[in-house]
Amino acid sequence: MQQELRKLPSVDKVLQTDQIRQLIEDKGRYLVLDSVRHIIEQARRDITEGQSCLPLTALVERVLEDVRTSGRPTLCQVINATGVIIHTNLGRAPLSDDARTAMKLAAEGYTNLEYDLDLGRRGSRYVHAEELLRHLTGAGGGLLVNNNAGAVLLALTALARGQEVIISRGQLVEIGGGFRIPEVMAQSGVRLLEVGTTNRTRIEDYEEAISEETALLMRVHHSNFRMLGFTEQATLSELVDLARHHGLLVVEDLGSGTLLDTAPFGLAHEPTVQESVGQGADLVCFSGDKLLGGPQGGLIVGRGDLIASLRQHPLARALRVDKTTIAGMQATLLHYLREEVTDKVPVWRMISLRVEEIQQRADVLAERLKAMGAEVEVVFGLSTVGGGSLPGETLPTRLVALQPPSPNRLAHRLRTGEPAVVGRIEGGRFLLDPRTVLAGEEDELLMALERAL
Ligand SMILES: *Cc1c(COP(=O)(O)O)cnc(C)c1O
Repeated sequence: MQQELRKLPSVDKVLQTDQIRQLIEDKGRYLVLDSVRHIIEQARRDITEGQSCLPLTALVERVLEDVRTSGRPTLCQVINATGVIIHTNLGRAPLSDDARTAMKLAAEGYTNLEYDLDLGRRGSRYVHAEELLRHLTGAGGGLLVNNNAGAVLLALTALARGQEVIISRGQLVEIGGGFRIPEVMAQSGVRLLEVGTTNRTRIEDYEEAISEETALLMRVHHSNFRMLGFTEQATLSELVDLARHHGLLVVEDLGSGTLLDTAPFGLAHEPTVQESVGQGADLVCFSGDKLLGGPQGGLIVGRGDLIASLRQHPLARALRVDKTTIAGMQATLLHYLREEVTDKVPVWRMISLRVEEIQQRADVLAERLKAMGAEVEVVFGLSTVGGGSLPGETLPTRLVALQPPSPNRLAHRLRTGEPAVVGRIEGGRFLLDPRTVLAGEEDELLMALERAL
């Protein structure tokens, strides 16, 4: 082993080879030096584990390969062929053309983010998306923060820190990614008072629990699970009546939240933000990048005076969004104002796609794959909305089903290609759902498939 270790070239020796000298010219010294040290260290470990020393040329090859991959961004384009429209792991909502243009504009240069152009003096960053929010939801005020988790944290901290918050045992949910309602409540410094049982909580359960210490009643959307059978939850209206009677507040975490009714699209009715505001919730929190279809954000709408106090809370500063988010959110909200959501917002375009259109896209894909010699057919299937909304609800779709010798190997090749493609494996077949493949991605998808097959 000592003998092998002695054969290991020095960093300088590797750096002086022609190939590495050229590499430094192309990619810069920093990346290359880092890589050479790393590769030599790795070779040293291999030797101590009993392997023999690699020749200099092999070490150089490894450095070349390492630098080729390490100088690249790790965040890359993925073609979503899973059929899950709001796929949290794949970045949730793709944005509309207008939203992307607005974000690019905001990113490229200066903006009137906090500058009143009319008066020529300091303005407020809060005017841009929030006027629209009020308008669209009928609420007295609106506020945009970093995400919905932040929205809930801010609302509870600002309104009930050090006091008691009553919540149903059936609503102490975990959303995924470690967001657990009881933990967020603890983090905001409120005391959690659970009432009812897992499956049934009546309005009387809340009423009996109210005390001097109580500040608010909290209601949380079940998000990604469904309760069936012998169940009961107090309605928002009941909670609002009770809270009014006792001088308390009602805060609702709607999760995804939606401004459009989902029922006309063949889905269950997802409670809308307007309904919650209309029923008198003091504050309603929801996500910007779930069914709203915009950039990551947390939206809070409700009573104007409460929104104003949230805005002044120090935590609001910590949860503040940047100019590109404001730009993207405003552009997304404008689609709702112009009533062009199902045409312009990708999430809703996918939800409202007719199955005939999906069939057509699946047929075209299948034909071209057949021409490449693949074993392929178009089959019936189901897409889902995802994003913690409409659990168990599905949309009929058509799937391109490939029957490769090893579906797992094909899936891996597609995931690690450029662009990456993510589909699903079911019953030994590799399935692609055209519903979530964006218009204009089809050629890229076909090329990726051709390479992988
Ligand atoms: C998704 C969700 C959240 C978290 O929202 P983010 O925007 O991801 O922070 C909170 N509550 C519910 C009920 C949710 O569905």
